[in-house]
Amino acid sequence: MSRMIFVSNRLPVTVKINKKEVTYEKSIGGLATGLKSFHEQADALWVGWPGFASDRMKRSQLDQIESSLLDDYHCFPVYLSEKDVTLYYEGFSNRTIWPLFHYFSNLTEYDNTNWQRYKKVNLEFYHKLEPFIEEDSVIWIHDYQLMLLPELIKNNHPTVKIGFFLHIPFPSSEIFRLLVWKEEILKGILGADLIGFHTYDYVRHFLSSVRRILNVNHNFYKLLYNHRHIEIDAFPMGIDYQYFSTHQVDNPIIINPQEKMILSVDRLDYTKGIIERIKAFKAFLDKYPKYIGKVRLNLIVAPSRQSLPFYDQLRSEIEILVSQINGSYNNRDWMPIWYYFKSFSQDELIAYYKAADILLVTPLRDGMNLIAKEYVAARTDYLATLILSETAGAASELSEAIIINPNDEIQIANAIKNALEMSKKEKMQRNKIMHERIQRYNVNFWAKEFIQRLDKIQFETQIKLPVEALVNKDELIKQFDASQKRIFFLDYDGTLSEFKKHQCKLHLIVH
Ligand code: UDP
Repeated sequence: MSRMIFVSNRLPVTVKINKKEVTYEKSIGGLATGLKSFHEQADALWVGWPGFASDRMKRSQLDQIESSLLDDYHCFPVYLSEKDVTLYYEGFSNRTIWPLFHYFSNLTEYDNTNWQRYKKVNLEFYHKLEPFIEEDSVIWIHDYQLMLLPELIKNNHPTVKIGFFLHIPFPSSEIFRLLVWKEEILKGILGADLIGFHTYDYVRHFLSSVRRILNVNHNFYKLLYNHRHIEIDAFPMGIDYQYFSTHQVDNPIIINPQEKMILSVDRLDYTKGIIERIKAFKAFLDKYPKYIGKVRLNLIVAPSRQSLPFYDQLRSEIEILVSQINGSYNNRDWMPIWYYFKSFSQDELIAYYKAADILLVTPLRDGMNLIAKEYVAARTDYLATLILSETAGAASELSEAIIINPNDEIQIANAIKNALEMSKKEKMQRNKIMHERIQRYNVNFWAKEFIQRLDKIQFETQIKLPVEALVNKDELIKQFDASQKRIFFLDYDGTLSEFKKHQCKLHLIVH
């Protein structure tokens, strides 16, 4: 295979600078695990941001980090200034694209300064990448921070194979069209030869946006755009099944056998439906009071994006609601919600997965949701009971979960009761099917499938019709008269040549 280059906003190695000491921490989980075997190949490279603002660093120190990353980790850094982080990452990526693509159009900010910085940083990624590109390179770009990069590469290196994968939802075209810079974003993504999403819903939404905004139609998930063929498909991202199903935890969680435990795990984010979930748990206690004192909710919220004002507000709302419910319902021996605002290691999370009677995953929107898959995989006893939102990408694969509408408190309250009362036999039947699927479509399968599809792409050469000869009518008639054998090719628009906005009529008078 030709040289593979991966590009993502963050490198799979985080560089931490503490006074004069520099430390390197490899990421675990998700993307880094899936791409590990490809990234370890001798000449593979990963380009991205190492996680610190470079403003106050000396050039010599940055050069030193660059060579360590390259030599020891096959990584190449794109350095971002504090202003880049504020405007490109926190600004355009997390205050425009993130809310809009998760259907929070009321929280979406349209700020031209952020957009200009987003363009600038995407261009910087291109310039950093440029020296490593060979004409037969295969480049896989990840996620919503780098949607302009495929076009920047393709314009300068048409023979390079470019893949793009979006890890968040692609919204319906009615939502997407609200984006002020929608054409530029679509054209940016369409620089890729293979474009991947988690689900077919996102694929359809993308294709209808391309049709409505750029007037380009697809044919069986293939587009013909700027004389190039582009493939679009769903590649649902999996987890490291082997790890989650075999990992032995250091400290198992022991809970009172008289008590059932509902688990909830998320990053702090308004898309995750945490407030709605807590309210649904209260509705459950109100509707089924026989469970008061017998069921508790372990609510894990991992800190995230705290530099953005809305996230702090969300944290306060969660904490007020939790204390109201605990204050009203607790008794001497029991507290309904055990709340944690901190990050847990994967080992600790697995301990919770193994102890939880129910996992409550109720995002208002989620590209995939790996936590749902991790919980099922960790339950090798086949006794997982998963309550899952229909608006999470994972729902299209895990239909054996109890599927709910995250806005419907009463439906969630009933789902909790049904889950608590579900027979062992039914749980095992549902788990068996989910296990088979999660095991097969694991994160390595996901990465391999995408890379193989990308590598197989052949650039189809376009048939160029002799347009100039056709427009010269006199010459055409002369050649027609002189010819001995004549073939007529009658083209319905789009068959022999690409679609045209305006039809050019040619009248042939045959003598
Ligand atoms: N996670 C973790 N510690 C925590 C909370 C979450 O390691 O305290 C991990 C979790 O195991 C999962 C990932 O973070 O692999 C969250 O992925 P998901 O797709 O569910 O949500 P995202 O945060 O990407 O929106």
